Amino acid sequence: MLIFSSALNGVGGNGAKAYHCVDCYGLITHSDRLIVIGGTDRHLFVNPLGAECDFHTFSSCPGAIAVGEAIEGHTWFSGYSWRMAFCRHCGQHLGWHYEAVSRYERPLEFWGILVGNLKSM
Ligand SMILES: [Zn+2]
Repeated sequence: MLIFSSALNGVGGNGAKAYHCVDCYGLITHSDRLIVIGGTDRHLFVNPLGAECDFHTFSSCPGAIAVGEAIEGHTWFSGYSWRMAFCRHCGQHLGWHYEAVSRYERPLEFWGILVGNLKSM
C-alpha cells in the first residue's frame, strides 16, 4: 500500500517520472532532474569494497539531504568532492552528493542516487 503526501504533489511534475525512497516511499526527485555527467545520467562503479554502485545523477534531489564533511579523496568524479546523501524522510542511505572543488566547474553540484534505493512511480 502506498501513501502519498499531498504537500509533495507538484514538485517537479510536468509528466516527469517520480522517484521515491524504496524504504518509506517519500518523494526524492523527478526524472526531469536527471543530469548528464561525463556523457550519461546512469553510472556504474565498483567501490573499494568490491560492491557495484549503479546510480543516476540528478541536478537536484529535494527529498535528500547531504550529511558530513565533503571528502575529496576516492571520488568517482574528478574535480568533485562528495558527501553521503540520505532520505530526508526516513534517513535511509540513498547515495552521494557531489560538489565542485573549483567554483568554475559546471555543474557546481549534483546528486548520485543508487538505482536500487529508488522506486519509480
Ligand atoms: Zn525514506
